[in-house]
Amino acid sequence: MKYRKPWQNLRLRLVAWYSVLTGLFMLVSDGFMYLEFRQTLFDQIDNALEVTAIQALKNLDDEVDALMFDPRQESPVLASLLNAAGVEIYLLGQDGLVKEHFGDSLTLSTQQNLHSGFETLVTENGRWRIYTQEILPRNDRPAGWLKVARSLQPVDITLQNLLNQHLLKLPLILSMVGLGGLFLANRALKPIDQITRMAEKVRVSGDLTQRIHYQGTTDDELKRLATIFDEMLNSLQATFEHEKRFTADASHELRTPLTALKGRLQTTLSQPRTADIYEETLQAIEQEIDRLIRLSSDLLLLSRLEQQHQDVCLELVDLSDLLAAIAEQIQPLADLQQLQFLTHIAPDLQIQGSPDHLIRLFLNLLDNAVKHTSAQGQVSLTAAVQGHCIQVRVSDTGIGISPEHLPHLFERFYRVEKSRSRAIGGTGLGLAIAQEIVHRHHGTLAVQSQPGQGTTFTVTFPQYSHC
Ligand code: ADP
Repeated sequence: MKYRKPWQNLRLRLVAWYSVLTGLFMLVSDGFMYLEFRQTLFDQIDNALEVTAIQALKNLDDEVDALMFDPRQESPVLASLLNAAGVEIYLLGQDGLVKEHFGDSLTLSTQQNLHSGFETLVTENGRWRIYTQEILPRNDRPAGWLKVARSLQPVDITLQNLLNQHLLKLPLILSMVGLGGLFLANRALKPIDQITRMAEKVRVSGDLTQRIHYQGTTDDELKRLATIFDEMLNSLQATFEHEKRFTADASHELRTPLTALKGRLQTTLSQPRTADIYEETLQAIEQEIDRLIRLSSDLLLLSRLEQQHQDVCLELVDLSDLLAAIAEQIQPLADLQQLQFLTHIAPDLQIQGSPDHLIRLFLNLLDNAVKHTSAQGQVSLTAAVQGHCIQVRVSDTGIGISPEHLPHLFERFYRVEKSRSRAIGGTGLGLAIAQEIVHRHHGTLAVQSQPGQGTTFTVTFPQYSHC
C-alpha cells in the first residue's frame, strides 16, 4: 500500500484540528477565568485596605500639633493583629518622612509616591498592594499622608496554584479529547473506509456486482454517499452489460450473413455452373453486401449519436417543408405497394434540429410503416401543434405489433420476426436510431399498436421559441 504522510490521513487531521481547537478554547476560557479571579482578589484587597485606612484615620490624635496616632487608643493587640494579617500602616509627613509605622515586613524608601490611590510595589519581601490617602490638617494637627500596605504573597501563591492546576490539566484533557476525537473519527469514517475498500475491489477485480448495502439507520451524508455509490454501480453495471450485449449482437449480425455468403460462394464454386447460376449468385451476394453496408453505416450512425452529447449541429428547421419533402420520397414506395398514403401537415412548424437526422428519423418510421402494411392498406403522416409541442404521427393499418414486443421495440437489434425482417433488408437498428435522434432533439417517441389493425408512432418535439 502507498505510504501516506500523517497529514494526508483525514482521521489524524480531524483529531489534530479537534485537539488544537479544544486547546485554544480552553486557553481562552481559562485565561479569562484567571483574569476575572485575579481582579476579584485585588478588589477584595483594595476594599480591605480602604476600610483599614478609615479605621486608622479615626485613631489619629487630633489634640496635639503633631501627626501621630492617639497613644490612648494604640493597642499592642491591634498591632499584632495587623501584623498577622500582613497589613502595614505608615504615617508620613507632608515631606514624605515616616512619622509612625506599624508592622515590620515592609520598608518604604524615602522616595515616596505621594498621590492618593492604589499602587502595587515590588520589594525584596515580595509584592505589596499599597493604598495612599492624604490627611488634611485639623485643629493644630498638620497635614500628611497615610499609607496602608498589604502583602500580595497569599494572592500570588493562590494565583500561581491556580495557573499550575490549569497547565497540568491541559495536556491531560487534550489527550482525552484526542482519544475521544479518534474514536469519533473512526466511527464517522468507517463507512468511507467501506466505500474505499469496495471501490478498490471493483477496480482490481472488475466485478460490478459488488454493492455497499450501507446499514446506517439515519439518512445522513454517509448513507447518501453509500446509496449514490451503489446507484452508480447499478447504472455502470447496466451500461456495461448493455454494451456487452450490443457488441455480441453486432458481431453476430455481421458474422451470420458473412458465413452465409461464404457458404453460398463455396457451394457455387464446388462445381462448374451455367452463366445464369453465376449471375443469380452474384446478384444475391450483392443484395446481402448492400444490407451489410447498411448495417455498418447504421452502427456507425448510432455510435456517433450516442457520443454526441451536445446540441452542436442543431439549427432552425422548417419541419413542415421537411416532412413534405419526405412524403414526396415515400409516395412512389407507397404506390408500388398499392397503399393509400395520406398527409396532413400543418404549415410553419419550426423546431431546433439537425435536418439530416430528422430526415433519417421520419424515413425510418415511414419505411417501416410501408414495409409492414399490405396492399390496399393505408399509411398516414400528420403533423400539428399540440399545446407547447409539435406532434408528428406516422400511422399505418398494417400487421401491428403484439403487446409483449412493445417494451423492447426500441432496443438495438430487436426484431419482432427475425427472419422476415432480415428478408426485407432490415438491420434491426432503425427504431433504436429513431429513438436516439428524438432524444437528441429533446423529444419523445411513443408507439401504440394493435395486432392486425395497425401501428402509430408518435414523435413529440418541444416547439421552437424565439426567447
Ligand atoms: P428493422 O430495420 O428490422 O425494421 P426496426 O428497428 O426499424 O428494425 O424495427 C424493429 C422491429 O419493429 C421490426 O423488426 C418490425 O417487426 C417492428 N416494426 C417496426 N415498425 C413497424 C410497423 N409500423 N408495423 C409493424 N411492425 C413494425
